[in-house]
Amino acid sequence: MNFLEERIVKDGVVKPGNVLKVDSFLNHQMDIHLMDEMGKEFKRRFADKNITKILTIEASGIAIAIAAARYFDVPVVFAKKSKSINLDGDVYVATVESFTHKNTNQVVVSKKFLSAEDHVLIIDDFLANGCALQGLISITESSGATVEGIGIAIEKGFQVGGKVIRNLGYHLESLAIVESMDDEKGTVQFREQE
Ligand code: 5GP
Repeated sequence: MNFLEERIVKDGVVKPGNVLKVDSFLNHQMDIHLMDEMGKEFKRRFADKNITKILTIEASGIAIAIAAARYFDVPVVFAKKSKSINLDGDVYVATVESFTHKNTNQVVVSKKFLSAEDHVLIIDDFLANGCALQGLISITESSGATVEGIGIAIEKGFQVGGKVIRNLGYHLESLAIVESMDDEKGTVQFREQE
């Protein structure tokens, strides 16, 4: 098991409805040393890529994106969830359905912060059905920038997102891939990775 898998086993909580709670170390209270390890590991996995920007989505992707950005030494841009229906032409927009909140948000990125010259690494905390990622990919591609890779902390391998994104040809790296989990026993099984 790698450092993140070990931490999930130690402190993650399996909830009914295929939800893994990691709010004691990842997306409510945050362990900054764990974040830093994750940033370092993303740099190792995408070492051959010339990244100019890291893109994530608010809120829980931001901390991980920042940890990675320190190793790539590039700015972080986060897609903002927008309530406004009357968006002006200065933003790229995508519609994202939330797995955890069961609602739909428009997310926006200002055109000032993403352009055709950019080589983007997309980062997020979870990959479930892939809606959040599809939104971030769509925003990147509307700007003309290149998606160089996608880094996820925890992929839920039993949901379709990972398969869909890999089948589209993107270089997707997940630090932990949950193969199955059992909310009654509180157990989590991971997919073997090298
Ligand atoms: P997707 O768009 O891939 O269906 O879901 C990704 C988003 O849903 C992530 O950004 C994350 O915030 C949230 N999410 C999905 N599954 C889980 C889960 O099991 N636990 C937590 N804490 N968040 C999740």
